[in-house]
Amino acid sequence: MSLLSVRCKLIPDASTADKLSRTVDQFANACNYALAVARRENAWNKFALQRLVYREIRERFGLSANLAVRAIARVGKRKGHKVGGFKATSVDYDQRILSLNIADEVVSLSTVEGRVKVPMRIAGYQRHLLRTAKSIQGGQLVRGRDSSWYIHLWCEYDDPPVLDPQGILGVDLGIVNIATDSDGETYSGSHLNSVRHRHRRLRKKLQKKGTKGAKRRLKKLSGKERRFANHTNHALSKRIVAKAQRTGRGIAIEALGGIRDRVRLRRPQRAALHSWAFFDLGQKLRYKAERAGVVLVQVDPRNTSRTCPACGHCEKLNRVSQAQFVCRSCGLVGHADHFAAVNIAVRGWAAVNQPYLGEAESAIRHNPVPGSPRL
Ligand SMILES: [Zn+2]
Repeated sequence: MSLLSVRCKLIPDASTADKLSRTVDQFANACNYALAVARRENAWNKFALQRLVYREIRERFGLSANLAVRAIARVGKRKGHKVGGFKATSVDYDQRILSLNIADEVVSLSTVEGRVKVPMRIAGYQRHLLRTAKSIQGGQLVRGRDSSWYIHLWCEYDDPPVLDPQGILGVDLGIVNIATDSDGETYSGSHLNSVRHRHRRLRKKLQKKGTKGAKRRLKKLSGKERRFANHTNHALSKRIVAKAQRTGRGIAIEALGGIRDRVRLRRPQRAALHSWAFFDLGQKLRYKAERAGVVLVQVDPRNTSRTCPACGHCEKLNRVSQAQFVCRSCGLVGHADHFAAVNIAVRGWAAVNQPYLGEAESAIRHNPVPGSPRL
């Protein structure tokens, strides 16, 4: 079992922020009061001190039973400190006075004015750690500078989570190639596409017929396509996660909304299957990565396919065709999906919060695409 503190930014509204502020102030006041008593009576044992100050703390500072106990517990750790007190910057929470709604990304906290629900603003990395935690053991509410708010959540895991990926494998989900990673490997959808074409011809015939039996067959056909896409997605996500795990890397993909935006197809029924299939691939990747202890981050999808991974120049014309990328600024030439995946990897790496460029980017620096200028 391992414990890990995960820091999440809170975005309280004005009235909630006010309640949090008063709770932090009163918690510090209660700590300082109990500290004065502990020094005077030389009572540092948690239970002895609790007998002396518990009732007074609850009445004078308006703390709930559990918050009062947390304040007293904090004082016990100051044994031996002859001077100094507590600054009003944080409050300790145990799991009875803090709860987390992971789906909505909202944390519920006890305050001096009852329970409040506060939305969190988190990135893929924190989301991964929160979702894979076995339990949340409590946390610490922290008031930062410029009235920013944070919650440090104590997450418990059976196995230590992957904390230190050696880089990020960026994955671009496309149409012609179902996926391309930032190493330049493509996960082909040619088989999937040929099945789709075969079915499309049959579908046209059936649509022309328009009989009851034809409609039934049409429905069956779309079920067949779905099952096939499901099978393909299983295989692809398995391969990608295994590669990331083998090479000690996390995975970055575009936030799922972005995948839908990318899929622009004329035929509505094909578009529906496509967006379903891409959404499904994203879900399967996330699920398999979680189970394998691989960090998966979702990044902002804007301009990933138009930005040069070498010089950062962003322009629509950089992408000369579906397949080819030619940077209008530095002249770098390469495969468009590969470069998109590299951009995704770089953003994913930034999201993991380390000032280091992903392996993918350095790979491109060292092995420039033939015909392109040296970087
Ligand atoms: Zn460039």
